[in-house]
Amino acid sequence: MNVSADLASLAGDLRDRLPDATTGNASFADLSTYRVGGPVAVLVRVRGVDALVTVAEAARRHQPRLLVTGRGSNLLMSDAGFSGLVVVLEGDFEALDVLERSPGALRAGGAVPLPVLARRAAAAGLSGLEFYVGIPGSVGGAVRMNAGGHGRETVEVLRRAWVLDLLGEDEPPTARARDVTELELGYRRSNLQPSEVVTAAEFAVSPDDAAACEARVAEIVRWRREHQPGGQNAGSVFRNPPGDSAGRLIEAAGLKGLRVGGAVVSEKHANFFQAEAGATARDVLDLVAEVQRRVAKATGVELVPELHVVGDDAGDQGAR
Ligand SMILES: Cc1cc2nc3c(=O)[nH]c(=O)nc-3n(C[C@H](O)[C@H](O)[C@H](O)COP(=O)(O)OP(=O)(O)OC[C@H]3O[C@@H](n4cnc5c(N)ncnc54)[C@H](O)[C@@H]3O)c2cc1C
Repeated sequence: MNVSADLASLAGDLRDRLPDATTGNASFADLSTYRVGGPVAVLVRVRGVDALVTVAEAARRHQPRLLVTGRGSNLLMSDAGFSGLVVVLEGDFEALDVLERSPGALRAGGAVPLPVLARRAAAAGLSGLEFYVGIPGSVGGAVRMNAGGHGRETVEVLRRAWVLDLLGEDEPPTARARDVTELELGYRRSNLQPSEVVTAAEFAVSPDDAAACEARVAEIVRWRREHQPGGQNAGSVFRNPPGDSAGRLIEAAGLKGLRVGGAVVSEKHANFFQAEAGATARDVLDLVAEVQRRVAKATGVELVPELHVVGDDAGDQGAR
């Protein structure tokens, strides 16, 4: 990978200020549930707000290409890698606090895994977030994607999110609360820009019997195990077209089991594509294109990817 002088200088700047947090030449494969992808020029693991402010100041000085990743469960990262800065939240951003029980409110850091959020809320007798147990993303990724399932979406439970713009003009860089309506959440989308980091979110919950909440969580886990494959995938590859399901269209076109290299359409759920051992991002991308082509030919419907594809040769949806 060609690391430009600017990027080398950003890496040096970050290493001086956050020596334990910065890694040169990390791998995309370690950052996503597909476990494919090439090198990342500079990776910074940010453990608290002060460190995030330091990263924002460095980003503003050097203006690198930027990608914020959560659990990498909706990302396909290219084999060419990413000649920019990848930011991962952890540490303080994994905090979870009950703000009030009635009416219920819970605040979660941007890096809290959604299944943890679902289980902790249920154990505390707070209902409304059970659906998150089946979505292996983070709070930040859920806000950005308006993640949803089992009849609920983030927009229905989110009150506000705190957002820091790594490339903003505010001095000092500050995470500011945005009301859910300002985020314009729609079907697997929001108006958040790639430089904007969700540091925390506040959710509305309702007091309920803990055992009842935990039973709902267990039922969702059971349903997921029965209907969705494990292994290396990123959940649904395509958005559902209006009034239909992408999985149904792919299955109807006879594409379950279709393979390109090490990437294969799941036999269990046709909108899940598995990356087997040795698969490359190119295999997955080619499979996505082949399925799109064959479904369009068979049904006339142009499937639109839900996956965010990022990296030097991948068009950089979701990155800047
Ligand atoms: C087995 C499986 C099942 C799934 N089922 C569902 C489902 O039922 N419903 C559903 O909606 N999704 C589902 N997904 C997809 C995925 O889990 C969601 O899209 C999730 O919200 C992504 O969160 P993440 O933290 O993994 O984000 P990533 O994949 O890391 O990133 C996704 C996008 O969010 C951005 N982002 C991540 N963190 C932040 C942050 N802190 N601040 C700002 N932007 C951020 C990234 O830049 C990127 O553009 C599934 C995935 C898998 C693997």
